Amino acid sequence: MRAFLHTLNTWLLGTERHQRMRVKMTLIALYGYVVSTALLFYGMDIDLVNPRHGWWLIAYIWTGVPVFYLLVRTGWASRLGNPSLDLHQSLYALVAILGAYVITGPVRNSVLMLMCLVLVFGMFTMSARQVMLMGLLFVCCLGSVQTIMVLANPGAFDVRIEVVKFILAACTLPAVSAVSIYVSQVRARLIEQKEELAHALAMLQDIASRDELTRLVNRRHMQERVTQEADRQLRSNEAFCLALIDLDHFKRINDLHGHAMGDMVLKEFARLALEGCRKTDVLARWGGEEFLMLMPAETLDGAQAALQRIREHLDTSMALSPGLSGLQVTFSAGLTDHPAGEPLHETLERADRALYTAKEGGRNRTVVTPAMGNGATSPPFADLAHL
Ligand code: GH3
Ligand code: MG
Ligand code: MG
Repeated sequence: MRAFLHTLNTWLLGTERHQRMRVKMTLIALYGYVVSTALLFYGMDIDLVNPRHGWWLIAYIWTGVPVFYLLVRTGWASRLGNPSLDLHQSLYALVAILGAYVITGPVRNSVLMLMCLVLVFGMFTMSARQVMLMGLLFVCCLGSVQTIMVLANPGAFDVRIEVVKFILAACTLPAVSAVSIYVSQVRARLIEQKEELAHALAMLQDIASRDELTRLVNRRHMQERVTQEADRQLRSNEAFCLALIDLDHFKRINDLHGHAMGDMVLKEFARLALEGCRKTDVLARWGGEEFLMLMPAETLDGAQAALQRIREHLDTSMALSPGLSGLQVTFSAGLTDHPAGEPLHETLERADRALYTAKEGGRNRTVVTPAMGNGATSPPFADLAHL
């Protein structure tokens, strides 16, 4: 039963949150139409409403209701530039209310209350200007309808009473409109504040997770990212590799060309290295001139090839970068894989030892240290990938 209700709910309202909200509003309006239709039937039954007029009004109501529902539910309304068709639905209701006013004889004054309902709906769906225009339009239409009715059947109406009724409506509806305008302004402000908060949150997340200089993922975020990958690996059993990368003789660049040039080199290295990465790889600034590269679903051979690609890209492109005046920058890397269940600090320590070996071995190279029991003879073994 619950599953059936869930399916029905999804089928009636859709799945997208905003779309569901719009369809819900349309269905709430449906409730008003159902009650009005029942009362029209009753009115026809007790000879309050002329059946011919009653049937016309019911036909009018039930032509619009499914059309609006389908337009909003299928998303066609979005293509018409107004996803909830709020203004159109309010105008449609306005005409129905005026129609009911004309045909309901002695109870017509009560029908006017329904217009307040339309304006209250407007608070949540329309802009302040639209609500105000809707109130004004209704007062004008009501005045016109009253005039036509008095002129068409002068004996049946007391003009003085009609004037009192009109003034009452003309004074009440703007007041309802004013409240609606206030609410819709509060609503607009809330939406604005929500957008500002979302923007601020995105900025904070960016500050918290990115390195300011290189715009790469920072150390803290990378620790989370690698931990997630390790957790995922426990389920998928898919290997991943980590490479610690350190720029060679970077201190010299600072000493010879200044700290600003050093910064530029770091930024350019980050940009070029990212160009050489796969979309699924993550490159982080691990500290100073040290970077950590996570290569999910990758073998050591594949990871080694990726580092080689970055090395070649750096060789050809770094010196050409504007402002770096032909500077040649190389890096050393310690590469390892992560066996499922191994504590991450052990994997990182292995990568660090491999990096140290690469530095000791003369720099500008990658040293691969496979995890124990991963088909390796004995770690570490050096691979002079750059040669
Ligand atoms: P090695 O090849 O052994 O790695 O030598 P190295 O000179 O790269 O290593 P060392 O650790 O001696 O020097 C790293 C330098 O990186 C020292 C530090 O001043 C510099 N550095 C760290 N962070 C930044 C930064 O954000 N900007 C600049 N310009 N320099 C930085
Ligand atoms: Mg260095
Ligand atoms: Mg270093």
